Amino acid sequence: MHCPFCGANDTRVTDSRLVADGDQVRRRRQCASCHERFTTYETAELIMPRVVKSDGSRETFNESKLRAGMLRALEKRPVSAEAIEAAVERIRQSLRARGDREVNARDIGEAVMKALSSLDQVAYIRFASVYRKFQDLDEFRAEIDRLSQEPGDVAPSPLDPQHRGEGR
Ligand SMILES: [Zn+2]
Repeated sequence: MHCPFCGANDTRVTDSRLVADGDQVRRRRQCASCHERFTTYETAELIMPRVVKSDGSRETFNESKLRAGMLRALEKRPVSAEAIEAAVERIRQSLRARGDREVNARDIGEAVMKALSSLDQVAYIRFASVYRKFQDLDEFRAEIDRLSQEPGDVAPSPLDPQHRGEGR
């Protein structure tokens, strides 16, 4: 790395430490020529795949949008902020791990549903009812029945089927 003071290309690292919760490496460097010291910050370049929407248009992956959708479903539910952040992070990592340049919005929706179903069943139903736009009331009931049959789950009783068509 070139020295920003004299331009010499022989600089050495005198100290190296993790900062920003381990997301960044801070390096102290010293120029071998002029002996000036300077600091560099190194961050991994995290490239998220582009999102292909159902109409074929593309958009940049938007983490705030993903989080907002989950928070909306989880409103007033007994789920900690930490658990939600961890779920967002898992989704982000799994999308990146695919190594694809593009990902279908549908796949992201499915990943959110999967995350919500393990966080909170009510939130899951809220999200799924809007996202999947259940074709009819029977399909919606079947999903609720399926969930309430799973042992240890809280039946999502306060849901009003009238809300199922929010997207229309
Ligand atoms: Zn120098």
